[in-house]
Amino acid sequence: MKSRRDLVLEEMGLTPIWRLRHAGAAPEDAPPTESVPVPASPVTPHQSRPISHAVSVTDTGDRRSEIMSLDWGPLKVRVASCTDCPLHAKRNKTVFGVGDENADWLFVGEGPGADEDAQGEPFVGQAGKLLDNMLAAISLKRGANVYIANLIKCRPPGNRNPEPGEALQCEPYLHRQIELIRPKLIIALGKVAAANLLASDASVASMRGKVHQYRGFPLIVTYHPAYLLRNLADKAKAWSDLCFAVRTMQGLQKGANAPT
Ligand code: URA
Repeated sequence: MKSRRDLVLEEMGLTPIWRLRHAGAAPEDAPPTESVPVPASPVTPHQSRPISHAVSVTDTGDRRSEIMSLDWGPLKVRVASCTDCPLHAKRNKTVFGVGDENADWLFVGEGPGADEDAQGEPFVGQAGKLLDNMLAAISLKRGANVYIANLIKCRPPGNRNPEPGEALQCEPYLHRQIELIRPKLIIALGKVAAANLLASDASVASMRGKVHQYRGFPLIVTYHPAYLLRNLADKAKAWSDLCFAVRTMQGLQKGANAPT
């Protein structure tokens, strides 16, 4: 009978080529086409071209400061009642985020799709199923040392990408979530999350395999699960990114535990 791990890797389209060598150990196997560098220093400052946020939004320091002062309860209420950008008009539910509020791992997607808008929870559709399998492949699961959130909390109509102004208006909510969680590592899923968190218009391909920083928190970029569902060949690269993330987390945990 196939083990759960084999089923997971099969779901990711990765069997029979790569297997974790030891349960609970860092996944060491990398796709043959890709060599992923382990960072010599844990953090590589991000240096790509900044995105222009020249849009008419009211992201004043006051608004950010107000949001940054909120604890979990008031923050959830603030998001649920937010009307600060046009996306509120067509949403069914806001999608705040879900999981362990003290998680080491934070996965950040783009924004709710139709299923998430209906249920108020991130990654509950097909892409969510793949994300759950990606988590399982590295012995993680939703809610256990893992928090899942999106860059934006309301569904853009027709699943279009969020406008820069919408993302800019929503980012303080994620910023506050991150400050409350204080994850050891953030995984940005896809171009929209990565581009906005790193204020860069670089491609996912060029951002992979490095440890970036979002406001002092280490951040790794990989492909969005919805993209992987359409581009099966890149699942191998996503697996490589997950292995890199596990090694990076182990380094960060060792660093965190080192005597000062
Ligand atoms: N895609 C995302 O980026 N987030 C979700 O919550 C669902 C799909």
